Amino acid sequence: MAKIKKIITSSAKETIQLGIDLSQSLKNGSIVAFLGDLGAGKTTLIKGLVKGFSKDDTVNVNSPTFVYLNIYDTKTPIYHFDLYRIKDKDQFYSLGFEEYFLSNGICLIEWSENIKDILPKETIFIKISHLDENKREIQISNLN
Ligand code: ADP
Ligand code: MG
Repeated sequence: MAKIKKIITSSAKETIQLGIDLSQSLKNGSIVAFLGDLGAGKTTLIKGLVKGFSKDDTVNVNSPTFVYLNIYDTKTPIYHFDLYRIKDKDQFYSLGFEEYFLSNGICLIEWSENIKDILPKETIFIKISHLDENKREIQISNLN
């Protein structure tokens, strides 16, 4: 991972604000792969990213665990994947999801570990680690 930026947040609110700030660095076609355990804060950070692109602040962000994908009606369309239950890249392909990588929208991918072999080389990686109850270390790579 080249060019890693490390940030520590001390509350969910700070992580949401970080997401709002980071949204400025994303553009049409950006792909962001999230790494980190359950409860790390992936969805929380995505809440901020989506807020940064929202038209009117009413978008409801939740992990799309039972449907794999949520699509938000944001200024730039956002495709929010949760691949926790995807077994491998073949299953991902069979659902036709790789077409979203070529779209003009922004792909935010939770549990990207499950398709790591097929992520495009320009993918931005965000790894979140639990430091304590409310502290998280957030490592971001490849962000210009
Ligand atoms: P994930 O999507 O990685 O499973 P979530 O974002 O759904 O994780 O959950 C993170 C949980 O941790 C939330 O309950 C959130 O309120 C809490 N939390 C506490 N501190 C932080 C922090 N600094 N950043 C993000 N979430 C935090
Ligand atoms: Mg989640």
